[in-house]
Amino acid sequence: MKTLDVAIIGAGFAGMYALHRMRGMGLSVRAFDGAGGVGGTWWWNRYPGARVDFPSAPYYAYSFSKELNDDFVWKETQPTQAEVLSYLDHCADKLDLRSDIELETWIYDPRFDEETQRWEIETSRGDHISAQFLVCAMGSLFDANTPPIPGIEDFSGELYHTGRWPQDEVIFAGKRVGVIGTGSSGIQAIPVIASEAGHLTVFQRTPQYSIPAGNRPLEAEEWQAAIDEWDERRAAMDESPFGLPYKFSERSALEDTPDQRQKVYEEQWQRGGLHMLFSAYNDLLLDKRANDTIAEFIRGKIREIVKDPETVEKLLPDYLLGTKRQVIDNGYFETYNRDNVALVDLRKDPIHRITADSVITESGEHPLDMLVLATGFDALTGAYLKLNPTGRGGARLANTWRDRFSTYLGMVIPGFPNLFMIHGPQSPSVLFNMPLGAEREGDWICDCIRHMRENDLGAIEPAEGVEEAWAENVDQAASATLFHNTDSWYSGANIEGKHRQFIVHLGGQQYFQHLRDVADAGYEGFVTEKA
Ligand code: NAP
Repeated sequence: MKTLDVAIIGAGFAGMYALHRMRGMGLSVRAFDGAGGVGGTWWWNRYPGARVDFPSAPYYAYSFSKELNDDFVWKETQPTQAEVLSYLDHCADKLDLRSDIELETWIYDPRFDEETQRWEIETSRGDHISAQFLVCAMGSLFDANTPPIPGIEDFSGELYHTGRWPQDEVIFAGKRVGVIGTGSSGIQAIPVIASEAGHLTVFQRTPQYSIPAGNRPLEAEEWQAAIDEWDERRAAMDESPFGLPYKFSERSALEDTPDQRQKVYEEQWQRGGLHMLFSAYNDLLLDKRANDTIAEFIRGKIREIVKDPETVEKLLPDYLLGTKRQVIDNGYFETYNRDNVALVDLRKDPIHRITADSVITESGEHPLDMLVLATGFDALTGAYLKLNPTGRGGARLANTWRDRFSTYLGMVIPGFPNLFMIHGPQSPSVLFNMPLGAEREGDWICDCIRHMRENDLGAIEPAEGVEEAWAENVDQAASATLFHNTDSWYSGANIEGKHRQFIVHLGGQQYFQHLRDVADAGYEGFVTEKA
């Protein structure tokens, strides 16, 4: 049996940071990860074309240590998966974390022992671990979703999920490839697969408003400027509502004439990246009339880029732009001008079933050698339900969350003492700069543990009923926006049988201020037990 102060599940951005901080506090702590390397989501999502859709350091990187950049240079403005993974490998070495990370080790059946105030945990290596605290840094997008399409298990060609991409090279050349799904992963993978495959059929359910990424090599002077201005840029991230390096517009789209708006949107389109959503106008995600203007601009771009009119019709999105995760791309719409690419609109031509070597839709059979599922994740809660810890009174999480996902602050779960989540449901997670959010939440957990040690406390958990006020807080932040109006994985709509609940906190910086206020008020909303 191993006895620890803290067991961390996950060795991505969040788990590695928590490990680093907690070791610095003198705690005995280890991180466990089922993957074969550090990197979390960046270890698993190695599908072709995978990139960050966010500018690189100091923005999508650890911000707590300028020294981590001393011998690492980002090469592109929107780094590839391989580049991010090599950055995280570099950080694991530089922070000397590896001796406290157990890879290829899954955590099973964590149980809270009320007598000892400790978590008792089994690992896939047959070890038993006893830890006072359990920190779940499992990532928001971990539990890959294989949709229950009839016959999917019969497919005998090569079958891959973007979120579980193999380590070995996948060869597309000369093959008939099908991709199901046109979210961020599918839209990144499709142009790369199309450029290599014999033929590609894209099975699309919901067309997307994708924006050009504007990716390009990062010039040496730009990188040097980022280092020289490190502190200023960090401070700007701290000021920015979502931890993003963008200048947020203060102007309504409805204040401008159609010609003025066209000019603004065109400028942002040429600039590329997520700027368009934040820097063009301030009400695109708040007011449907404003949203309609940018949606129509992007539909216009699709009409301009794609040559075949029938394909254009299939590609035109009609939901509220930005209320599904905004996608940015590298030549996505242009891909449909290739002779070796076909698009199936599943809304008009649905899949009947999958056979050993084809996908059969209403209109006929699509023979395939390879099928790529870019069908997303049971986001935010899937990994927790699979872990299914046992809290007070023998309660299993799957039961506690059967009708509603309840948390306090998105950090802790009622009835599950001494268990902390990083990027949990009802925290900002995917709608804030994730590495920065991981640092802030990791710091908050460290402060809480320090508070407990200084006050001789053995257990901490949410007070009765605080989860209801927190759910209201999450709902209030979302209801001020257009997010509620669209089916998306933010509200569980992508998983059959999952109950609908919007579980991303849209408060951005205000959320992190709230976390600090709760701590400053002596951990308001929590109850504790003496050790
Ligand atoms: P996703 O956004 O959930 O997209 C899944 C796609 O599969 C959607 O087009 C969905 O259609 C389709 N789909 C799901 N079930 C289906 C079914 N039964 N039949 C047909 N189509 C089906 O998943 P993702 O693309 O993996 O992205 C997930 C998240 O990961 C992103 O939103 C983003 O937060 C993150 N991500 C980030 C990056 C990055 O650059 N940083 C890259 C990739 C992913 P519907 O829309 O109709 O449900």
